[in-house]
Amino acid sequence: EQDVTDYRNGLAIRVSGFDVPQPVKTFEDCGFPSQLMNTIVKQGYEKPTPIQCQALPIVLSGRDVIGIAKTGSGKTAAFVLPMIVHIIDQPELDKEEGPIGVICAPTRELAHQIYLEAKKFAKQFGLRVSAVYGGMSKLEQFKELKAGSEIVVATPGRLIDLLKMKALTMLRATYLVLDEADRMFDLGFEPQVRSIVGQIRPDRQTLLFSATMPRKVEKLAREILSDPIRITVGEVGM
Ligand code: ADP
Ligand code: MG
Repeated sequence: EQDVTDYRNGLAIRVSGFDVPQPVKTFEDCGFPSQLMNTIVKQGYEKPTPIQCQALPIVLSGRDVIGIAKTGSGKTAAFVLPMIVHIIDQPELDKEEGPIGVICAPTRELAHQIYLEAKKFAKQFGLRVSAVYGGMSKLEQFKELKAGSEIVVATPGRLIDLLKMKALTMLRATYLVLDEADRMFDLGFEPQVRSIVGQIRPDRQTLLFSATMPRKVEKLAREILSDPIRITVGEVGM
């Protein structure tokens, strides 16, 4: 127990919440399937970053997470890797429709970066990733979603448009990520985010990542997450 505390302190990790799983030291500790390990190695990721060390085992255990760590700290892989595991663990994966993993980001640039990262890890498993944000034809996105995708990476406005067009159903979405939640608020997307969350089944796993934690974001997190574990790496801005 003291070892765990020392290890967390050494990485500037603070956690709160009940029954918090221990941080890992290596990607091997996560028990990832070999195809996922291969891609991790191919990416040149030698060991998990501090947020990954603590977030990976928690997210893999199925808990909701509030993850606060500065830009560049490796938050994307902290939610993309467990998402792949979550999806391939689903029984009768190819029998149902609609995405299982839904990731929302505030801008098309951020969404695009996540899309690229998700595709790298999804490929070996034959999982389809759809990009749902501006800058691409809505009709093309409509067709792609109709054909089926296990993972959708979206900006809130475009996702709502496509939901209204019935391009996709959220019936089996069970893994929701709100990335850069603080910027989502700065850009005025709170109503859209709430609308999307309201369309996803309450027994989902929800992850909220942010570089800072202003009061409004804290309030949203309290409302939409269940028994979350809060992870902070380094100093936190408000
Ligand atoms: P954040 O979302 O926290 O701003 P990113 O997820 O965009 O950070 O990651 C920042 C950079 O670090 C990316 O180029 C990513 O490929 C790289 N990265 C992520 N995890 C690792 C790791 N474990 N080892 C080495 N590089 C990593
Ligand atoms: Mg990020």
